[in-house]
Amino acid sequence: MDTSRSHALFDRARALLPGGVNSPVRAFKSVGGEPFFVQRADGPHLFDVDGNRYIDYVGSWGPMIVGHNHPAVRQAVKRAIGAGLSFGAPCAAEVTMAERITALVPSCEMVRMVNSGTEATLSAIRLARGATGRSCIVKFEGCYHGHGDSFLVKAGSGALTFGVPTSPGVPAALADLTLTLPYNDFDAASALFAERGHEIAGLIIEPVVGNANCLPPRAGYLQHLRALCTGHGALLIFDEVMTGFRVALGGAQARYGVTPDLSTFGKIIGGGMPVGAYGGRRDLMQQIAPSGPIYQAGTLSGNPVAMAAGLAMLELVSAPDFHAALEAKTAMLCDGLEAAARAAGIPFTTTRVGGMFGLFFTGETSVDTYAQAVACDTGAFNRFFHAMLERGVFLAPSAFEAGFMSSAHDDAAIAATIEAAREAFAATAAA
Ligand code: PMP
Repeated sequence: MDTSRSHALFDRARALLPGGVNSPVRAFKSVGGEPFFVQRADGPHLFDVDGNRYIDYVGSWGPMIVGHNHPAVRQAVKRAIGAGLSFGAPCAAEVTMAERITALVPSCEMVRMVNSGTEATLSAIRLARGATGRSCIVKFEGCYHGHGDSFLVKAGSGALTFGVPTSPGVPAALADLTLTLPYNDFDAASALFAERGHEIAGLIIEPVVGNANCLPPRAGYLQHLRALCTGHGALLIFDEVMTGFRVALGGAQARYGVTPDLSTFGKIIGGGMPVGAYGGRRDLMQQIAPSGPIYQAGTLSGNPVAMAAGLAMLELVSAPDFHAALEAKTAMLCDGLEAAARAAGIPFTTTRVGGMFGLFFTGETSVDTYAQAVACDTGAFNRFFHAMLERGVFLAPSAFEAGFMSSAHDDAAIAATIEAAREAFAATAAA
C-alpha cells in the first residue's frame, strides 16, 4: 500500500501541529505507525491522498451515521451557505432545531446550542453547580466528556489511550471536586452518595460508555443512579454526545427508559459540522443567561449552516426502522468478527448497543466494566488494527474507543470487513 503522500504530509504536520494532529487519537500513537490523510469521503468509505480506500468504522467519531457526504445533508448545507455563513443574530433554523430536539428527546424541555460536545458538557455542569449551589460532580472511570478541566480526571478516550487520564494543568483544587466511580458498580455509587451526597451537584455519565471501548449498562444501573440523584438532590446528566440519536432515535434515555435532568449532545446533531447542545428540565434551563444568571454564550452558536446540516441529519435518522436496520448491520458485523476470531483461535469478544460496538481481545465472554476493558490485550488489538488497515478497513486507532456503524455500510461492505478480519485474525495469531 503506497502511503508516501500521507507520510510527507505527516512530516509537514509534525513540524507545526503538536503530534502532527489537531486531536490526539488521530495520530495513531497508541497503535503505532502513522495516520493516513483523507482526501475525500463517500458513503462507508474514506479515500486517502495516496488513492487508498478504506471501509470506515470511525465515522468522524460518530457523526456520520448516514455515511459520508450524504446528498441530503450536502444539499441542505449548500442551500444554507447561499444565505450567508454566520449572522450573530437569531435565525429560523435555530428554532426549528430546538423544536426537533425537544420532540425527539422529551426530557429536554428547553435546549441551548453550542459548538462542540466539550462545550455542552462544560455548560451542563456549570448549570448543575449553579442550580444546586453545590460544587462536586461525579463521573465514571473511563468516561470522556470532552477536555474541560473538571472532566480530565480518570478520563477515557485519548486521555486513557495515552496513559494520562488525569491531565497535568488541571488544578488540584478543581480536580478534588470531581469524584469518580467505577461504571456498573451499584454498591460503589450507593456508598459515595451516602457519604457525600449533600455535596454533589450532578452526576454525569455516558449511559453507554463509548470512550473506554464500548460498555453497555447493566440492567437497572441507570435507574439506580436516577434514584440516588433524586434521593440526594443531585442532577442526573446523561452525556449523549455519542449515544444521542444513535442507540435509539431518542438516545440512551429512550432505550433504557430513564429520564435525566440534563442531557448533552454533539456529533450526529451537527451532521458533521461543529455542533453541540445541552438541554433538560425547563426550570433548570431557564437559569441560563439571559433568562437566568448562569452565564454561557457563543459567537457561532446556532450557526445557520451547522443547523441546516444537523436538521437534515435528524430528518434522515427519523426514518421509520432506521435504528432497527442500523442495529441489524451492527449485529451482522459483530457476529461475523466473533466467528472469524474463533476460527483463528483468538480470544475475542464484542459488545454492541444499537449502532455502536466494541472489540475486546480477551478470553472473557462478557465485558461491561472499565477494569475488564483495560485488562484486554492491547498488543493484539494494535496488530489487528494494522492488519485490517492494510486490508482497507479503518477501525478506531485505539483499543479504548467504540466503533460506529452507518446506514451506508451495505451487506457488501460488511462482508468485505469480515473477510478482511479472517485474514487479519490469522495474521494477529501468527505474529
Ligand atoms: N462526550 C462524549 C461522550 C464524547 O464521546 C465526546 C467526544 N468524543 C465529547 C463529550 C466531547 O465532544 P467534542 O469532541 O465535540 O468536544
